[in-house]
Amino acid sequence: MRAEIISVGTELLLGQVVNTNSAYIAKKLASLSIEVYHHITVGDNAERIKEAIEAAESRSDMIILSGGLGPTEDDITKQVLSEYLDVELVLHEDTQNKIITYHKNSDFEMPKNNQLQALMLMGAVPLLNDTGLAVGSFLEKGDHSYIILPGPPDELEPMVENHLTQVIVDNILDEQKLVSRIIRLFGLTESQLALKLEKVIQNQMNPTIAIYAEGGELTIRITAKGQSEEECDKMINKVEKAINKEVKEFVFGYGEKNLSDVIKDILIEQEKKLLLLKV
Ligand code: ATP
Ligand code: MG
Repeated sequence: MRAEIISVGTELLLGQVVNTNSAYIAKKLASLSIEVYHHITVGDNAERIKEAIEAAESRSDMIILSGGLGPTEDDITKQVLSEYLDVELVLHEDTQNKIITYHKNSDFEMPKNNQLQALMLMGAVPLLNDTGLAVGSFLEKGDHSYIILPGPPDELEPMVENHLTQVIVDNILDEQKLVSRIIRLFGLTESQLALKLEKVIQNQMNPTIAIYAEGGELTIRITAKGQSEEECDKMINKVEKAINKEVKEFVFGYGEKNLSDVIKDILIEQEKKLLLLKV
């Protein structure tokens, strides 16, 4: 399996933005044993994006495009791929509802072109955007798979980590197992955590370790790839032990439950109530 990364954005060509997405994606693919022989960067230009896709098709199985999923006129990536592949763009309803709700809860009216962010390639697996609005796509057509991801790293990285990796494993590497464990922490900043785990994370390929910050809490997601769940669990246990050595005192839980869920459970268990006093 050979993959090629096409980064779309004139700001990347001009050196105004450093292309961290392709480094991030390449590392992720390496951890899945997918080879990457080419990284390409093109501007927001339909002809040159098409040329890049055509070249990628001639030498790679998987083509990953990042950037240009937004609502503005220079965001053309999925329209170009749709035209190139002759595959229609269709509405992803959950994303459309999310966009409508987002604008209802904000003070400004929804611009019509915001709906563009809810479009995906027909027949594709939608890649959910946990931290933004634009939906991504994973499409298998002919001998190739095509993946479209948003440009902002804080949207692209969770989309890759939380959704794309599993889709790749399910659709392409189906003899492999992928297991994730989430550790939840409170009481230190994202950069303090990154510093404490520097040595553990360094050169870590399988399992991968990803850190996220949300609402004052921190999440570490450990993801292992192996031949069986037991093998993955063993690898994760080893990494978790190393993480615990550094930050055990900040860990309050595992899995999907956040800090307020955990506090609620404790209060229910101890038959206690929390009174909020306004001062
Ligand atoms: P938006 O909805 O924000 O417009 P988008 O999916 O259309 O998102 P772009 O417009 O291409 O993405 O890029 C938005 C921003 O994301 C860029 O200004 C840049 O800061 C960042 N970005 C885009 N591509 C990359 C990249 N390859 N590496 C790092 N940052 C990137
Ligand atoms: Mg954009």
